Amino acid sequence: MTYDIIVVGGGHAGIEAAAASAKMGKKTLLITILCEQIGAASCNPAIGGLAKGHLVKEIDALGGMMGEITDRATISFRTLNESKGAAVRGSRAQIDMDLYRINARNMLLGLDNLTITQELAMELLTENGKAYGVKTQLATYKASKIIITTGTFLNGLIHVGKNKIDSGRVGEFASSHFSSSIAKTGLKMGRLKTGTCPRIDAKSIDFSVLDTQPSETHNFFSMKTKKHYNEMLPCYIAHTNAKTHQIILDNMHDAPLFSGQIQGVGPRYCPSIEDKINRFRDKSEHHIFVEPQTKDATEYYVNGLSTSLDFSIQHEIVKSIKGFENAKITRHGYAIEYDYVEPTELDYTLECKNVKNLYLAGQIIGTTGYEEAASLGLVAGINAVLSLDNKEPFIMRRNEGYIGVLIDDLISKGTKEPYRMFTSRAEYRLHLREQNAKYRMLKHSRRLNLLEDEYLKKLENDQKIIDEKMLMLIMEDLHPTKEFNEYLHSFNQESVSSKTSWQKIIAKKCFEKEHLQYIDELKGLNDDVLEELLNTCKYYHYIRLQDENIQKMNEMLETKIPQDIDYRVISGLSNEVVEKLEKAKCPTLWEASKISGITPAALDMLHIYIKIHF
Ligand code: FAD
Repeated sequence: MTYDIIVVGGGHAGIEAAAASAKMGKKTLLITILCEQIGAASCNPAIGGLAKGHLVKEIDALGGMMGEITDRATISFRTLNESKGAAVRGSRAQIDMDLYRINARNMLLGLDNLTITQELAMELLTENGKAYGVKTQLATYKASKIIITTGTFLNGLIHVGKNKIDSGRVGEFASSHFSSSIAKTGLKMGRLKTGTCPRIDAKSIDFSVLDTQPSETHNFFSMKTKKHYNEMLPCYIAHTNAKTHQIILDNMHDAPLFSGQIQGVGPRYCPSIEDKINRFRDKSEHHIFVEPQTKDATEYYVNGLSTSLDFSIQHEIVKSIKGFENAKITRHGYAIEYDYVEPTELDYTLECKNVKNLYLAGQIIGTTGYEEAASLGLVAGINAVLSLDNKEPFIMRRNEGYIGVLIDDLISKGTKEPYRMFTSRAEYRLHLREQNAKYRMLKHSRRLNLLEDEYLKKLENDQKIIDEKMLMLIMEDLHPTKEFNEYLHSFNQESVSSKTSWQKIIAKKCFEKEHLQYIDELKGLNDDVLEELLNTCKYYHYIRLQDENIQKMNEMLETKIPQDIDYRVISGLSNEVVEKLEKAKCPTLWEASKISGITPAALDMLHIYIKIHF
């Protein structure tokens, strides 16, 4: 059986890769172990969060699936960092984990060009450094491009206390044969670790003694969503205490993480409770967020209590917490170790440099998180299609979006621990706001044609209005009148005495979105446009400075590298850099910047040398 593109794995990366490929017109096969588990939340049923919300909005703007699936399954919603400014705010949705899977599966089944098969992939077929198919336990499939998105399943090994079980996720097969077959291609692989917490039967929790965290009115991740699908539920906060910490300290010798049983490196920013107690011994308590897993709220996820201690200890830990004295664990916590492929083995399209036609995305290349996986799956799917069509690849730059930052970090630096996204990873974060993702992606959405016309047209129209109105707000003189100053006083804003511009007024601290309605030229504009105008005015000077830097950087990257250049005479370039540049024969500095190990400093030296000598 022959396809254009085969995707192995129906997790968050696989969903986006398969959907992009099918929507872009390619005959696509998705091979996954269990159809029921398409889009399963291995850990916390929550999508978004700081910087991760940005990724979901970028995926949505490019025509991906995650935003829509999330909106249909949302049961609680919060805006994180609300008070810290538009650039670092992040939307986070608690989802009904069952609804998420059902919607993901149904949306995939609704796509033309996509066939789903429930099978275990055993062997990656390659010949002369090129991938051409996948053998499952029962069949052989061939395709021009293969995308592997197998998450934590490659040689997955679950740890609970002293016990170990081969498993890709609790209750599911590990992919051992497939991992060996990937390793045979020569790709550099390593071992990582992650973990999850116990889940608790709702009727055994005393919610009356926990702090309640009400849901906000549900905002949407997708621009396509017009209505709320579910009732919003509250979350709760509990706390660990001295007794909890003592139980953990007393049993540390049996914790797989500390006994030497686990070799893989875990996510630094999502530590297990054992790790937190070990690292922060002076802390008397840790927050535990108690979050519903489904809309029936019959089972709660205890966010912050990830553990791989023995079951009996897990019970003791849970029962030591106020409100959980009678708690019954429905699912125990565990840690899992798995194989991953060094992301430096890939190029910026997510194709393997040394195994042509093979693309990798998601946790298999060292990331952690549903949103990171989905972003990578989307990019791999799109690039596999573009390559089949002999079209320019889709490469997002760091200054364009968090997806660009994610891929650039992975490909250029690699990772030795599970990589998750943060706003601090983005140097252009004032520009890369969650709210303006749809406008930032417009250039790409237009070319890729994955986003339906109706939304594309609306965005084009919004962007035109934003450009026109920004020009007016910056350029037109504003002569303050008595009435105008009275208006400013009405929201504690100082009066102005001389000619100014609207941009300068809007940039002031107390000026909020509702005040834009005072400006005649902005009356009746939609909320998205108003929000974008407000934030662009507030950050105007910083954004201009960033834009100048970006402009300089882009000009530098466009510099052509003369074909007769002798890299060996450029002082300061390491042997490794020289060898890589000689081998790659890049036409411009842009291509050179994409080679792993070519640092910004090396690029600078090369740029200066070319400017002086050619
Ligand atoms: P997955 O979602 O794992 O999907 C992989 C898919 O591939 C599955 O559908 C599987 O059936 C399929 N598959 C695998 N092998 C084969 C094969 N040989 N043939 C056919 N199909 C195959 N992320 C966080 O952000 N925070 C956390 O705290 C966190 N904790 C986690 C705890 C645990 C225990 C686990 C397992 C994961 C955790 N994660 C966490 C990670 C998060 O679940 C992943 O980052 C995300 O799901 C990765 O998406 P993916 O598409 O790469 O892989």
